[in-house]
Amino acid sequence: MSDLRVIAIDGPAGSGKSTVARGVADRLELSYLDTGAMYRAVACAALRRGVDPADAGAVVEVARTIDLELTRDTCFVDGVDATAEIRGPEVTGAVSVVAANPGVRTEMVARQRAWATERGGGVMEGRDIGSVVFPDATLKVYLTASAAVRAKRRAGEAGGQDVAAVGSDIERRDAADSGREMSPLVEAPGAVVVDTSDLEINEVVDLVVGMLP
Ligand code: C5P
Repeated sequence: MSDLRVIAIDGPAGSGKSTVARGVADRLELSYLDTGAMYRAVACAALRRGVDPADAGAVVEVARTIDLELTRDTCFVDGVDATAEIRGPEVTGAVSVVAANPGVRTEMVARQRAWATERGGGVMEGRDIGSVVFPDATLKVYLTASAAVRAKRRAGEAGGQDVAAVGSDIERRDAADSGREMSPLVEAPGAVVVDTSDLEINEVVDLVVGMLP
């Protein structure tokens, strides 16, 4: 795995991961994978198929059989465009329990490793890329930002939603992601921690690109 050039970008919701990871991938002309979108896609497929997100066995079956096509800007689930649906409130409400399911994680981690192997690496963003998926990544970055800044960013992205409501949703997901048994959100050993609260996107992209060995 060490011959792969993987840039791992982890951190909580609203830390700037997606924007920074896309910026780094564009700058370096590397492929980009949003692993959060993969867990969202499994939650979306479960809801579409009428599967209870808390039914662990049934959701693992969804994860194993899902036809998932992710590009930089689109997500197709079982052949149907789900780009907007995976960001909607139903999927956001269901994704934490789906992502805490060990069988789902095993399947998604295998797909993530295959994705990188096929391309010789790339920029991968998520919660456990540097800790579990690619602990030997070329560069591991852990982005963070104050709770207030994260809520404001996510509310803006969601088209001007109520900041307080978005803030409590982020808190709920952070607690679930950090507290789960399998692959909790952690700063991976060897990860460089960057607080993005007071930085512009381009500054963070510059920092990350400048850290590359
Ligand atoms: O990044 P995003 O907020 O879209 O991720 C949605 C959810 O997917 C997270 O709240 C987390 O539960 C899960 N996730 C994960 N591991 C990853 C990426 C995302 O558990 N590598």
